[in-house]
Amino acid sequence: MFQEDTIAAIATAVGEGGIGIIRISGPAAVPVAGSLFRAASAAPASTQPSYRAAYGTIVDPENGQTVDEVLLLVMRAPRSYTREDVAEIHCHGGPLPLRRILGLVLAAGVRLAEPGEFTKRAFLNGRLDLSQAEAVIDVIRAKTDASLRMAVGHLSGAFSAKVRAYRHEILRLVAHLEAAIDFPEDDIEELASRDVASAADKLCADLDRLLDTAQTGRILREGLETVIIGKPNVGKSSLLNALLGEKRAIVTEIPGTTRDIIEEFVNIGGIPIKVVDTAGIRETADVVERIGVARAREAIIQADLILLLLDASAPLSVEDKEVMELLSGRQAIVLVNKTDLPAVIDMDDVHRHVGGKPVIRISALEGTGVEELEKAIVEMVYSGQVSRSEGAFVNNVRHSRILRQARDHLAESRATVAAGMPPDCVVVDLKAAWEKLGEITGDTVGEDIIDQIFTQFCIGK
Ligand code: GDP
Repeated sequence: MFQEDTIAAIATAVGEGGIGIIRISGPAAVPVAGSLFRAASAAPASTQPSYRAAYGTIVDPENGQTVDEVLLLVMRAPRSYTREDVAEIHCHGGPLPLRRILGLVLAAGVRLAEPGEFTKRAFLNGRLDLSQAEAVIDVIRAKTDASLRMAVGHLSGAFSAKVRAYRHEILRLVAHLEAAIDFPEDDIEELASRDVASAADKLCADLDRLLDTAQTGRILREGLETVIIGKPNVGKSSLLNALLGEKRAIVTEIPGTTRDIIEEFVNIGGIPIKVVDTAGIRETADVVERIGVARAREAIIQADLILLLLDASAPLSVEDKEVMELLSGRQAIVLVNKTDLPAVIDMDDVHRHVGGKPVIRISALEGTGVEELEKAIVEMVYSGQVSRSEGAFVNNVRHSRILRQARDHLAESRATVAAGMPPDCVVVDLKAAWEKLGEITGDTVGEDIIDQIFTQFCIGK
């Protein structure tokens, strides 16, 4: 299903860079690039071999002016990112040369690509399945090594392969049941029912295990929303600075409709930690202001992780105790700060109030205890998932929703068998599960969902 038209966009980031790339994909890619490119060797682009870069200049055909010195790279179908003919013009990475060259390409009759359109074509042309295409954006946005490993694992198809295997198994069961429907006189039916019952049980268990990774996968992909709470002067800003100072914060920009959101992540043991309201913590640092239980309550609503700071050099206050109450049922770590000062706090009392929550003694000022905090966070996030083969983690909400629905259909098929219903009823449930799972790989997904996925991409990807 090759697209008729040819698209182009600037593929490199906005701003100044060493090089900038204009990517063109479609049947006219090579002729259009060739019409603007003058090779130093004088060889025409049409004879340029795939994957070999040619040096030359881009010349404005209107006035014969040289726009920039460039390299032209040609990748012919189907061995290209989109599986179409692709030409890349590598020019100097300034906004002006990039814009001028893109302008010339568009003037030659090429259409400006929509966000994600190159990857969408790669998907439509069968080079990537849908979950692999989704992984492309995860690779680009990866915040830590662990999130990158997960994204690359998905990109390589590790996750899709699992889903395909499930679909294959379901199809096998359907075939078995259909044979039973076609030859009712044989006793295939009973065999088939027994086969389906045990296979559906196993599939449900497999899907459950996969779904168990969803929480960790989501956190690796999107970050762990963390709030630091505690009374004024307990050391919230100091802790934040200790974390930010040691670890390089990863700043990502999420394009929004009205304004871009800037998010800051701290890399803790490979887990991207998003400290919520960092600005708030910084601003109020020097202001003697009671944070108050109400505000703490508000702050922790959305949080994945709560870091409660207590002051080791002072007795527990009523306010501390009230805030500790808020932690029940939540993922929280209690940090007893200022342990470099003479101890006043009653640690037994702390433990009594926070139940089994981890309590760690730190000094934000001297940076002690930070390693232990890191370890506690890593343990909490991976929650005993020993093997860290992130490639097989479920990492996005769309996928976990589909997996859960597929699992429900399988459970229904199991119940249908148990109720002694005829095989065609079981087939209906199994086919529903099979179709559902196909939405992950994109085999059975509507155009609206496809569009929705690709519009999250940037232009040029
Ligand atoms: P916040 O109001 O909770 O953000 O608290 P700050 O981080 O601004 O800290 C308040 C005061 O406590 C500052 O003077 C810090 O230097 C001091 N402080 C923070 N952490 C420690 C610590 O671990 N030990 C000691 N001795 N002082 C600390």
